[in-house]
Amino acid sequence: SNRIETLEFQAEARQLLQLMVHSIYSNKDVFLRELISNASDALDKLRLESLVDKDLAADVSDLHIEIEVDRDARTLTVRDNGIGMSREDVVRLIGTIAKSGTAELLAKLRESKDSAASADLIGQFGVGFYATFMVADRVTLLTRRAGESEGTRWESTGEGTYSVETVDDAPQGTAVTVHLKPEDSDDHLYDYTAEWKIREIVKRYSDFIAWPIRMTVERKGEGDETTREAQTLNSMKALWARPRSEVDEAEYKEFYKHVSHDWADPLETIHMRGEGTFEYEALLFLPSHAPVDLFAPQARRGVQLYVKRVFIMDDCEALMPNYLRFVKGVVDAHDLSLNISREILQQDRQIQAVRRRLVKKILATVKELKANEAEKYRTFWSEFGPALKEGLLDDPDNTDAILDVVSVASTHDPAELTGLRDYVERMKDGQSDIYYMTGESRSMIENSPHMEAFRAKGYEVLILTDPVDEVWVERVGQFDGKPLRSIAKGQVDLDTEEEKKEAESAREQQRQEYADLLTWMSEKLADSVKEVRLSTRLTTSPACVVGDAHDITPTLEKMYRAMGH
Ligand code: ADP
Ligand code: MG
Repeated sequence: SNRIETLEFQAEARQLLQLMVHSIYSNKDVFLRELISNASDALDKLRLESLVDKDLAADVSDLHIEIEVDRDARTLTVRDNGIGMSREDVVRLIGTIAKSGTAELLAKLRESKDSAASADLIGQFGVGFYATFMVADRVTLLTRRAGESEGTRWESTGEGTYSVETVDDAPQGTAVTVHLKPEDSDDHLYDYTAEWKIREIVKRYSDFIAWPIRMTVERKGEGDETTREAQTLNSMKALWARPRSEVDEAEYKEFYKHVSHDWADPLETIHMRGEGTFEYEALLFLPSHAPVDLFAPQARRGVQLYVKRVFIMDDCEALMPNYLRFVKGVVDAHDLSLNISREILQQDRQIQAVRRRLVKKILATVKELKANEAEKYRTFWSEFGPALKEGLLDDPDNTDAILDVVSVASTHDPAELTGLRDYVERMKDGQSDIYYMTGESRSMIENSPHMEAFRAKGYEVLILTDPVDEVWVERVGQFDGKPLRSIAKGQVDLDTEEEKKEAESAREQQRQEYADLLTWMSEKLADSVKEVRLSTRLTTSPACVVGDAHDITPTLEKMYRAMGH
């Protein structure tokens, strides 16, 4: 059926397109980077599929990307002979935005009146294919999925609807044609049909792409004849395989944007190589901001696996523990089969060894940031600290390395977080425990009656407000041989020997004085509490409820109750 359908973009997609049509983002050149990046992904996917499925009816002999311009029609086409899309794929992948967090992003954009801030948000989100509508008033996409016979033609002006049509004569792969906006035609800087402009953009953003990016260029020969020849615009050097000294910062940044689909620069780059029995190269990045789905149950890991320059899989969980799921990049392992499955990878001893080395290197890098680059570390910790702390539950081998980079709020300084080592250095003479309290917010904890005696005696208390804190302090139990002790549990003894003696006699007196009252209260409250006793820990509040040392804390109790226990 060659039916033409006109369909509506999903509501979120429509809103994002509106922003693109009105060019909220000022760097329009990146539309070409996005198209090339998609073409490169499509070629990776086809090569992999052809390795796995020997019967796939697809030509993989000359996989490449082609850029074609028509100066008269003012169009630019990016064509690949990669995996392509079926009609259903086109509707699902191009007509909707599957990225989680889209709704939140749009809500933030609506709130923000400042267009620079909006552009920044968009930049962090990344809009991929839709970036074409910054420069185009119409975009056409012609595609055919490898192994299928019918192709699909898609077209839209970016204004709410698009058309899809089944066609007979589409070549395998995808061609995206951008009909350039007439208003940019006079502006030399935005002339995307000019050879120099395209060369410049490819060089800047896509030089490392592993597939040839070709363009036919015209050259005036002697006399009047023009010759036409296809040129490859990119160097195609796998960045991770080059020595660090030969890669410049800008190249790392662009590579990061390609693998991460992020528009913002990375916070830190880690380039390493393993030699010996199992050779590999790794190029990893710490992003500068957390993805919106960092804590979603399906959050994906960001490390791609290559085998000798051949892309094998995205999201390689065998290479990165869950608590480091925000790390992006590439690992190229030399001695693996191209057909390796996820299940086999998980059990591969050498992959496990690589993973251990990557984890150590990442934690060492964070430690270095903490020691030498306070600003970067602060950004890292506020974006990824809560995820990293999950490692204190999941990765016992690296507990010490993780504790070394943990920062927590503390009563010591309302404005700054503190490291555990710093806390220990400030401990008072005779103090043997590290005191902490967990709760929903700093102010709740600071105003808690449990805090009073500690404040009065000048003891520092760590203020733990992330849900995971509750669990890791229990699990880890101590730091540097000093027990981690909740001030909300059990009896906490803050007095010196002398003070104790004095206090004991005073208390004995009080006990007699209040005996009747306590008995009366115990009886009245028998259904709700185990015991009513005089407290030594309150200074201004009249009463507080405490758990036994082995009871769960109120926050945990709430958590369990919310989970239906
Ligand atoms: P992203 O690349 O971050 O997934 P895009 O908006 O750039 O987001 O692309 C959306 C999806 O459309 C891609 O994930 C891919 O499945 C599909 N797609 C885009 N361009 C191509 C292409 N040239 N060949 C095959 N599929 C493509
Ligand atoms: Mg993309």
